[in-house]
Amino acid sequence: MPEARVTHQQKEDLYQRADGRCEYCKSPAFYAPDPFSVEHIQLRAAGGATELPNLAFSRQGCNNFKHMAITALDPATGNEAPLFHPRRDRWADHFTWSEDMLRIVGLTPAGRTTLSRLQLDRAGVVNLRRLLSTVGEHPPDAE
Ligand SMILES: [Zn+2]
Repeated sequence: MPEARVTHQQKEDLYQRADGRCEYCKSPAFYAPDPFSVEHIQLRAAGGATELPNLAFSRQGCNNFKHMAITALDPATGNEAPLFHPRRDRWADHFTWSEDMLRIVGLTPAGRTTLSRLQLDRAGVVNLRRLLSTVGEHPPDAE
């Protein structure tokens, strides 16, 4: 039976693996006023283990919008599509930055669906990107 509580070591490993950024919107935790969350990609209630392959590092806001979803409706087609899975998918395969680098563009059904469901371009996140770009902290280095 996996340990239910996320350990300090797991938090460290997650932070390192994510390069200190939300694995969805790419906001750096260093500039966040509140702690980031450790997300169970598959919910514990649905049998998801508290182990690194099922954990993601994310802003609390992104986590709140994702809530229990692992799929959602692709706004371009209206079809149900899987959300971006930070452990199985590469960010750059599903998302890119807009020309001004302030907004995320979804490249695939999973990218568009995740952008929409998690509201990755919500005002506070876009404003943070704008501010961070003036000090060279946005966009993040390419993976
Ligand atoms: Zn985020």
